[in-house]
Amino acid sequence: ATPTSIMVGTGRAAELGVLFRKGDALQALHGVDVVAFDKTGTLTEGRPALTDVHLAGGVAREAVLSAVAGLESLSEHPIAQAVVSAAQSDGIAPADVTEFTAHPGFGVSGWVSGKQVLVGADRFLNREGIAIGDFGSHGAALAQQGRTPIYAAIGGHMAAVLAVADPVKLSAAPAVAALQSLGLRVAMITGDNTATARAIAAQVGIDDVVAEVLPAGKVAALEALQKGTERVAFVGDGINDAPALAVADVGIAIGTGTDVAVEAADVVLMSGDLGTVVSAFDISGRTLRNIR
Ligand code: ADP
Ligand code: MG
Repeated sequence: ATPTSIMVGTGRAAELGVLFRKGDALQALHGVDVVAFDKTGTLTEGRPALTDVHLAGGVAREAVLSAVAGLESLSEHPIAQAVVSAAQSDGIAPADVTEFTAHPGFGVSGWVSGKQVLVGADRFLNREGIAIGDFGSHGAALAQQGRTPIYAAIGGHMAAVLAVADPVKLSAAPAVAALQSLGLRVAMITGDNTATARAIAAQVGIDDVVAEVLPAGKVAALEALQKGTERVAFVGDGINDAPALAVADVGIAIGTGTDVAVEAADVVLMSGDLGTVVSAFDISGRTLRNIR
């Protein structure tokens, strides 16, 4: 492509809400084989809501929600906000927490009224030596529906399994289908559990799922998709995924995410509408093939 056609393509992209931050990004996009999407906040709205609370026998709903909301009020994770606002609308005050710790990719922990409270993924409670028992099958059933199960243990015993649901964007399935019809392979990378990830992927038409990836593992997951020859574009909202945006052959950030993400990206989308990803590929293809 000539410098002029690149300029024209870049300008047209900007009108459609796609900013090519680097001159060669328009060309780099043309060579891409695989488009890998982050799940939370990219394919989904990123605004989960609490949908389920399944309590252990003999524990009070208010006490559990108060302890869990106490911990989550100190966390910045989108899951945390879902729990805190649900407790709030039930009129349940968050408990006072000491020794709060966030465990990225796992969950949160702290102490409430002399008892240790653990809240997070099943792998987190397993790691901390808590037997999940029957709650595991409840959690699995919730995950089958595309909800994320959150396990809560108080004083060394399972107290509840909660679930949050984060709706998929209306633009996700059409964008995935359009990318596939351009001949691209589409994948999803997420820290969420495998069953939830697969259910969400099925809703948007993605077969290729890499789940239970720790925040530091997104780069390795991308490198696995690259396999040396495949060129991979990564689309993320920037929460936990700035390193992946930087290591991808083309990093595509949703501009409504974090500033770090925008800096790490080659392409910035001016809205969360995933149709803009298709526009980016479309304009890149037309420019490189010299079609007006
Ligand atoms: P992603 O944003 O890709 O879904 P994360 O790496 O942020 O994944 O989190 C992975 C998993 O860790 C979540 O699905 C959840 O099970 C658990 N988790 C992380 N932070 C919290 C939290 N504050 N409260 C409850 N669970 C959490
Ligand atoms: Mg995300």
